Amino acid sequence: MDESTGLILKALRFSAEKHNDQRRKDAKASPYINHLIQVAETLWSVGEVRDVTLLVASILHDTIEDTATTPDEIRENFGEEVLALVLEVTDDKSLPKQVRKQLQVEHAPHKSHSAKLLKLADKISNIQDIIRFPPKDWSLARKREYLAWTEKVVAGLRGVSPSLESRYDELLAEGKSSLGL
Ligand code: NDP
Ligand code: ZN
Repeated sequence: MDESTGLILKALRFSAEKHNDQRRKDAKASPYINHLIQVAETLWSVGEVRDVTLLVASILHDTIEDTATTPDEIRENFGEEVLALVLEVTDDKSLPKQVRKQLQVEHAPHKSHSAKLLKLADKISNIQDIIRFPPKDWSLARKREYLAWTEKVVAGLRGVSPSLESRYDELLAEGKSSLGL
């Protein structure tokens, strides 16, 4: 064990507190932190990522976008590099959803190597949830649209990790077949 373990634990505690009142969209309204743990573990076990900056950023990746967390708080607690990575994967919530979704597709190819890995793991986690614990009010059409959108984003993220990309491809195939595509 070394300093990295302490940083990971600190990020988990920080993120759990920040997302305390937020739930996933599945029928059981699962704790939001489940998603962050899943993204970090996917990077570690599927992507074989050992870069602690990336692992910590993955645990914090939705804090600025979805909670009242400020960039200064991330900088003070985790440093400039973690903050830069979190900001790279944070959508601008002042824009309409449709525009944000389109910008994710357009910006994906221009992201840094680490941000691409993080975004791949995020999309893997989300399509896994669409298959196993889908948002409770989503129609079949909406789930299909979501899968198709992730495909467009992921097209711009390819070339950084064969293992993460094939995990995504397997899940996409599973998702498509379970949604009758
Ligand atoms: P999204 O469509 O972006 O919802 C998906 C996001 O929700 C994921 O990226 C994930 O974000 C998070 N999430 C939380 N719980 C789950 C879960 N169980 N499974 C999968 N994802 C989960 O967000 P909105 O609800 O904001 O909808 C916006 C889009 O949907 C717009 O483009 C809108 O036009 C379209 N829409 C389509 C409708 C239709 O019937 N076709 C109806 C209404 C809207 P994270 O990575 O941050 O965790
Ligand atoms: Zn996420």
